[in-house]
Amino acid sequence: MKKDILSLLPEELEADFAALGQPKYRAGQVFRWLVRGVRDFDGMSDLPKSLREKLKEEYFLHEPKVLSKQVSQIDGTIKYLWELKDGNAVETVVMSYQHGNTVCISSQVGCRQGCAFCASTIGGLVRCLEPSEMLDEVLFSQLDSGKPISNIVLMGIGEPLDNFDNVMRFLELVNHPKGMNIGMRHVSLSTCGLIERFDELADRDLQLTLSVSLHAPDDETRSKIMPANRGRGVGPLIEACKKYYRRTGRRISFEYAMIDGVNDTEYHAKLLARHARAVCAHVNLIPLNHVEERQFKPSTPGHMKAFIKILEDAGVNVTVRRKLGGDVDASCGQLRRKMQTGNNRSINR
Ligand code: SAH
Repeated sequence: MKKDILSLLPEELEADFAALGQPKYRAGQVFRWLVRGVRDFDGMSDLPKSLREKLKEEYFLHEPKVLSKQVSQIDGTIKYLWELKDGNAVETVVMSYQHGNTVCISSQVGCRQGCAFCASTIGGLVRCLEPSEMLDEVLFSQLDSGKPISNIVLMGIGEPLDNFDNVMRFLELVNHPKGMNIGMRHVSLSTCGLIERFDELADRDLQLTLSVSLHAPDDETRSKIMPANRGRGVGPLIEACKKYYRRTGRRISFEYAMIDGVNDTEYHAKLLARHARAVCAHVNLIPLNHVEERQFKPSTPGHMKAFIKILEDAGVNVTVRRKLGGDVDASCGQLRRKMQTGNNRSINR
């Protein structure tokens, strides 16, 4: 089987080339082509033809194809749907902020976590993404948009901790000084709370921000909307967050999508405030994005205001996520679903 050359770190490529009887600098040449987005060995013009032929036998390369690209007329947010080598598709979003451009990437094709308000999980998990595929989401978004990417959030389709090894390797690749060199402090990893992986993540000693999709502060509500809570529980999640913070010194961020009549009462706000204080967490409130297939509605502005006041009065650090790209298909997973269901009138090629 051919190897995935783009998932190799420069040091590993050098070791591979040594085994092929090639000098070290050849590996450096190839890596530089890869970083520039060349996905065809014949395009690597400073390599001898015999080496290019050899590389074609040993490795495969694939250039992700833009299936659709939507640009927001409101704020310039760009939403890409990429076709992968096996015909599957994932979404990537590029958002521009004053402090730079952020890319939101997918980590799996589909998702098996089953959150009741989310579009990405409707068809279940198809497969995990390779490190190279996540890297190309970042690189090709940058190349196509012409916007230099400085921040990465793993908040697209999929559960990053359910694809742990590939996500860790992707982070090493994207962080590599010879590669895109994006600092770990500019990376956020979002999880629905697979606490059995928290220790392993803390062991890596990365400077990234861990975002926990809490969405409800009690087991009854959380288990109803997030099946991942069943068998794990809010109590153990809060304990795992405390431990993670103690071990890494990195403050956790709680993501909380406000759903009308489900998780937005005074009771929820007070309990959330208690958890946030216990963990020293920052709370990021998200007005729920309406998903066609789901019955949930966003909380009313009045309820949100009251909710925020309770948190603030309790001394919790809280922000409300600004809605970007409202005219280019709300939250992640929706574009891919439209393609699957054939309802792709709004997909502009
Ligand atoms: N699986 C990871 C990351 C992907 S989802 C996780 O669960 O964190 C990224 C964020 O978007 C999560 O906080 C998720 O709960 C949230 N989300 C999903 N569907 C949403 C919707 N319809 N409206 C608002 N946020 C949503």
